[in-house]
Amino acid sequence: MSDIIVSIRNVTKAFPGGVTAVDNVSLDIAQNEFFALLGPSGCGKTTLLRMISGLETPTSGQIIIGGEDMAFTPPNKRPTNMVFQSYAVFPHMTVEQNVAYGLKVTGVPADETRRRVGEALEMVKLQALANRKPDQMSGGQRQRVALARALVKRPKVLLLDEPLSALDAKLRDDMRMELTRLQETVGITFIIVTHDQDEALSMASRIAVMDKGAVQQVATPAELYEHPRNRFVADFIGKVNLIEARVLRQIGRKLDCEARGLGRLELQSDGLVGAKVAVAVRPEKLKLSMAEPAHGIRVRGVVQNVAYYGDTSHVTIEAVDGLGLSVTVQNDRRSGGAGVERGQQVWVHWAPEDSIVLTE
Ligand code: ATP
Repeated sequence: MSDIIVSIRNVTKAFPGGVTAVDNVSLDIAQNEFFALLGPSGCGKTTLLRMISGLETPTSGQIIIGGEDMAFTPPNKRPTNMVFQSYAVFPHMTVEQNVAYGLKVTGVPADETRRRVGEALEMVKLQALANRKPDQMSGGQRQRVALARALVKRPKVLLLDEPLSALDAKLRDDMRMELTRLQETVGITFIIVTHDQDEALSMASRIAVMDKGAVQQVATPAELYEHPRNRFVADFIGKVNLIEARVLRQIGRKLDCEARGLGRLELQSDGLVGAKVAVAVRPEKLKLSMAEPAHGIRVRGVVQNVAYYGDTSHVTIEAVDGLGLSVTVQNDRRSGGAGVERGQQVWVHWAPEDSIVLTE
């Protein structure tokens, strides 16, 4: 990778009491990336971010920022700045004073401070509110103040810990776009921590999916969705049908399997797999038909439920052998419906190449 700005090498963090929050993680983050650490609560993503910022010290391993080992560099001397979940702003100061504070205490001359504060407020579109106090502002505006406070210090890397979680849903959507725009404009590396897959998928150029202290996969949003490496990633990113299967034979890249409800299947796999696998297929890759389809993987079932979502409907099917399948159907433009109803017998089918074979 060209121009690595943050390099995390075999980093482990064990807390007293036996919790290994981060377990031998290695990651390279490039200059100018919008990088997300994504995972469920407790997976270690915040601890990893705090180690990058220097607020937490690794038990072992190295954190290198801008080519320098940070082992003995305290937080305030690192080329990073952190925006916290509960965007800490001083209530008794105006927006301008809040943003200027960090420069003032480090002795930046007054005229330079004024210029840099002006630039930072412009970046987050708060020039018009420079003289307001935080309690006269909305949650989204206060969040921008927190961003301006971090940006005014000109960090090489901006660290954001669940920055949108305190905002309501509508504002969160707007702020996602704002953050993406901001990252593109200021051209610094953003590393964001989130447990919200939509947030990571919509903003980040690359995502590290974490579980139990370990990185499960690092990839672009599209790669994670189309080529999840294991069950955890497939399940965590988007919706997926996971079908248990047994491998009877593997010849090169071809697997001869016996799958629940589907019988014998021939599938492709990139690597050698064990005897037990899961066949993963996304709900929008599945098709429904009344007559038995001539090609592809197919199974008969009964419609259990149809949930309407405007453009699409989510149809749940109980197929033979107790196999449950979830199908996303494009609703008919004229009738507005999915064209199936509860209790109806249908065939579910899909192209074999839309199946992903997962080993764990
Ligand atoms: P969340 O989204 O809930 O914040 P997270 O993925 O960010 O979760 P961390 O906060 O990094 O997870 O915590 C990872 C694990 O380490 C958890 O089991 C947590 O309880 C534990 N942990 C975090 N900080 C400490 C600490 N200071 N002392 C002891 N254990 C800790």
